[in-house]
Amino acid sequence: MATDNNQERFRGYRGVGRATLERFEVGVWSEVVVHTADGEYQGLILPRSETADERHMVLKMASGYNVGLAFERIEEMHEVNRREAHYKIPEKEFPYDPGKPSVKLFGTGGTIASRLDYRTGAVIPAFSPGELYGSVPELADVCNLQTEKLYGIFSENMGPEQYIGVAKACAAEIEKGVDGIIIGHGTDTMHHTAAALAFMLQRPPVPIVMVGSQRSSDRPSSDAALNLIHAAKAAAEGDIAEVMVCMFGPTSDEYDLLHRATRVRKMHSSYRSTFRSLGERPLAMVSSEEIVPLRHDYHRREPKGRSEMKAAPVFDGRVSIVYYYPGMRPDIIDSLVASGYKGIVIAGTGLGHVNKPVYPALARAAKAGVHMYMTVQTLWGYTQMYVYETGREIMELGVIPAANMLPEVAYVKLGWALGQTHDPEKVKEIMLTPIAGEITEREPPDGYLVYQGGLPEIVEFTRRVRK
Ligand code: ASP
Repeated sequence: MATDNNQERFRGYRGVGRATLERFEVGVWSEVVVHTADGEYQGLILPRSETADERHMVLKMASGYNVGLAFERIEEMHEVNRREAHYKIPEKEFPYDPGKPSVKLFGTGGTIASRLDYRTGAVIPAFSPGELYGSVPELADVCNLQTEKLYGIFSENMGPEQYIGVAKACAAEIEKGVDGIIIGHGTDTMHHTAAALAFMLQRPPVPIVMVGSQRSSDRPSSDAALNLIHAAKAAAEGDIAEVMVCMFGPTSDEYDLLHRATRVRKMHSSYRSTFRSLGERPLAMVSSEEIVPLRHDYHRREPKGRSEMKAAPVFDGRVSIVYYYPGMRPDIIDSLVASGYKGIVIAGTGLGHVNKPVYPALARAAKAGVHMYMTVQTLWGYTQMYVYETGREIMELGVIPAANMLPEVAYVKLGWALGQTHDPEKVKEIMLTPIAGEITEREPPDGYLVYQGGLPEIVEFTRRVRK
């Protein structure tokens, strides 16, 4: 027992770190004042990841930010307060109400799954329904919730294997008759996974709502609870049966937006309202009271028991995305071909261009049977390779313009297409036929900003439209 307590008290600290904590009679969850060679700090000692180095201590400051202090620079440290283990979530049994829809929450990781700053490696709970109910009781107002942790990773580690894993897990749940699905995911690459799922699970009978958070739930400004409540609302009661991303709309916490999986992108590294629909209006606004559609061309929820879903969980990972920059040399393309890549998506300049020195490499890649598609790094707008002679030349070399597909979406779609066939004509047909809203006929003039929240006048405009 004593050993257990000691393990808790010094969780993750080893060697010199642990010795220093022992010397000053402090431990994890001690609120301390620390005198260092660089100044004084006050904060809470957080647990340390087992794999992190032993020379640093992590302090959570009153601001909510964490700082790492080198033990060797600590001159004095004393405890001013002691808190109880903060990572323990009050667990309460999730109430079952037979009148409410059943929702399945799949966890994959990311900030939404961390109780504490994930960089500390502190306990990351497997969000059981009980834990979730303990911290976000509002969830029980909308649904009966079941949870399952599929992965516990940050989203940069998501990839083809996980896309297939999540798609299969969703398909199995749909088969069992669930009324809606929520997928907790790191925000950084949520739009890649969203696109992959939209191709792998076409026309699902129920909403599949991806959700994340930009600020972890231990911070006062966290968006985790609200995003989760709104995602539950969309999954349990919503009529939009598509793969969507549910994240903060305006900078205030009034509502979330539901974005179509293939038109959404993370656009800010720290804002909570970071997800934006590009070249397209979001699908709907969602608050805890209501879901207000902003458009009507969506796939509707099927009557209970009916499903026309087409599941195709395949992906060929030998695909790359090349972000063109002026001065790029042809060896970039050559080395991809030499490494065995079968598909390349180029994010070109303007209407879809690369420089002339790259042309011979494109010709070599085409000859080697590599499938190449052009997208635009402007993100808004279409590739238009007939406008300039250069565009026409690039097409002649074998690069196919991918309309207004976002570069990441084209990358995901090419991997998915090559998972089915390598026949160039068939790949082209798959790539250029819109399957999940990834290519649109036109981008609405107000799709550029309107409805995306954030600016007071836009929020005001949205309010007027809703009346
Ligand atoms: N790095 C994290 C991730 O994408 C950030 C987040 O969850 O928001 O997994």
